[in-house]
Amino acid sequence: MIEVQLEVIENVEKKPKPNPDSLQFGKVFTDHMFTMDFSSEKGWFQPQIIPYAPISLEPAAMVFHYGQSVFEGLKAYINTDGNIQLFRPEENLKRLNRSNNRLSIPPISEELILSYLKRLLILEKDWIPTAEGTSLYIRPLIIATESSLSVAPSKNYKLMIILSPVGSYYPEGIHPVSIQVEHHFTRAVRGGTGTAKTGGNYSGGYNAQKKAADQGHAQVMWLDGVEKKYIEEVGSMNIFFKINGQVVTPELNDSILEGVTRKSIIQLLKDWKVDVVERKISLDELRQAYHDGLLEEAFGAGTAAVVSPIGELSLEDETMIINGRQTGELTKSLYTTITGIQTGKLPDPFGWTEKVEY
Ligand SMILES: *Cc1c(COP(=O)(O)O)cnc(C)c1O
Repeated sequence: MIEVQLEVIENVEKKPKPNPDSLQFGKVFTDHMFTMDFSSEKGWFQPQIIPYAPISLEPAAMVFHYGQSVFEGLKAYINTDGNIQLFRPEENLKRLNRSNNRLSIPPISEELILSYLKRLLILEKDWIPTAEGTSLYIRPLIIATESSLSVAPSKNYKLMIILSPVGSYYPEGIHPVSIQVEHHFTRAVRGGTGTAKTGGNYSGGYNAQKKAADQGHAQVMWLDGVEKKYIEEVGSMNIFFKINGQVVTPELNDSILEGVTRKSIIQLLKDWKVDVVERKISLDELRQAYHDGLLEEAFGAGTAAVVSPIGELSLEDETMIINGRQTGELTKSLYTTITGIQTGKLPDPFGWTEKVEY
């Protein structure tokens, strides 16, 4: 890929910034966005930062029909020195390319996209909220734009990066949620697209999510699609259990999405000399551990919430109450440490954060 000049067209009509106390997730977008196009003749071309605005596509654009699209999610923070800081952005861009590969979308230059993202963040610095727990959510996405009804990879794509200031996931403090185990619907299977961040994986989960919500649960716990026996994920998060002092998370199996938060938690636990294993874990094993009084903590892990403690797990025939519906000590430590590193309040011994220089 040839490095081409980034064109910046500034928005003259700046929007008022939202009240930091009433920020919701992904409802408000900043003044600018990054866009870049792909054609089979030119490769990726015309990188631009332009005013955030609707885009125009023909109804025949392939993304509307066969769902050829991928996305990412990461956050920018203002650290204690007042600088813009990212958390492991290379991991997200690497994963974007893995998703591209799975969805037959041409690869991007991770290095170039990171440099364009940094330019966008510098321009939008005033949009990064600074209150405790807030951040600027970054959503890169790629869609198939060729006008054609052929069931085949598109010849044209558009990559965009949009930014949204987000409030604290826990405005009233971190609190455990209730989860329902999903026995019918499947999120992903081996050989499918579960390891990619691609649109259809999420809309396919809405039925189960609604079922759980109708019964008063916050999220669903997904089981493996083949035997409906092994635990995979919770909602759009990876899952961890602390059983008799050992932390267990399902091993990557070609249907679980490999989270950056998951990876960071495993590394942190190893650094803390906490016993942590990636392996298959069945619902039966979890149930046994619970009855033996050995299930100490459970939590989901992902960029949006960082960690989300599970206080209650609802199965077909019983409800498990975990740690008396209290946030566990280890869950709490992981939350404090990761958010501390992300915002620069704690030292970063792993080199996870990346300052945006300007
Ligand atoms: C994004 C995502 C995660 C968490 O990944 P992070 O990189 O930690 O944000 C977990 N599971 C699914 C299905 C996801 O889409």
